[in-house]
Amino acid sequence: MVAFPSPVPASVAPVLSLSDLAAWSRSGTSLAVLGHPIKHSISPPMHNAALAELARADARFADWEYFRFDIHPDDLPQALDLLHAKQFRGVNLTVPHKIIAFGRVASVDPAARPVGAVNTLRWSADGWEGFNTDGYGLASAVGETLGCALAGTNVILLGAGGAARGAAVECLQRGCASLAIANRTPENLAALLETLRPVAGVIPVRGFSPSAPPADLPARALVINATSAGLRDSDPLPIDLAALPRPAAVYDMIYNPPRTPLLRAAGAAGLPFANGLSMLVHQGAKALEIWSGVPATRTAPTMAAAARAALGRQ
Ligand code: NDP
Repeated sequence: MVAFPSPVPASVAPVLSLSDLAAWSRSGTSLAVLGHPIKHSISPPMHNAALAELARADARFADWEYFRFDIHPDDLPQALDLLHAKQFRGVNLTVPHKIIAFGRVASVDPAARPVGAVNTLRWSADGWEGFNTDGYGLASAVGETLGCALAGTNVILLGAGGAARGAAVECLQRGCASLAIANRTPENLAALLETLRPVAGVIPVRGFSPSAPPADLPARALVINATSAGLRDSDPLPIDLAALPRPAAVYDMIYNPPRTPLLRAAGAAGLPFANGLSMLVHQGAKALEIWSGVPATRTAPTMAAAARAALGRQ
């Protein structure tokens, strides 16, 4: 049986396991994030800060709490069944669960279908409803931090993994002017371009090698890094910004470290830039909106402050 000091201080919230879930007996409204690993996730302090603030104004939220579980991918089906049986109101999914869960939900939000991944689940009597709030998070983040709307913008996207796929779909669904995608491994790039074909409509979409950008790429593009190059200081740059026509701005989905080599290069070139913390915050606020009905714009500032504090402690 898990003991629940209430409320669990965000900074010391325990990492829970599948067996903790099997023994779950908490009667309040519970939310959870599942990942493997999950230790470094700052979602629990972000959500619990927003929930504490909501509870001060509305007693309905007094017993809401957000927990974290380290779940091996092999155990995800069992964990999702247990979470449903224990009536968790909502679940967030992070690496490596977003794609696995997509195939295991009762229904998928139409906007998330082309992404092929879900990061937010909502309990319903019929089973889990799946959503993907990463695209909303990205669009809100580039608007807030760089003053860029995806609609009507030429986008140069770096990467062809899960985050890049979500970003590409969001850019296309919001009506970007064009989308050019660069990726290190050509086969992965080709696979992504193929999956985007039905979403693109009349929007021009092309791929290129980051080591040989075509000369006719558009100037004043928004460059979005969705590769994991930059997580370590020793990583290579995902692209040489000087090899591109001068971009309008650079957004890096990585938030830890806060200033990647790519962002340092953008700063040195005098370009506006921002890291991925704002995306993390806005996708989280949108997930909480899906579970609670409280608009994401209301909880995002509290989540942002809590996320910065949590990163400061790491
Ligand atoms: P994946 O593992 O699915 O994809 C990784 C991508 O990075 C691939 O395109 C891969 O290229 C590329 N890559 C990896 N290492 C290098 C390198 N050394 N040089 C060039 N390219 C490289 O990861 P995700 O798509 O899930 O995540 C990508 C990044 O986005 C991560 O850093 C993650 O933290 C961040 N992210 C941030 C979010 C936020 O809220 N701020 C949300 C989601 C993700 P290749 O195909 O050649 O292997």
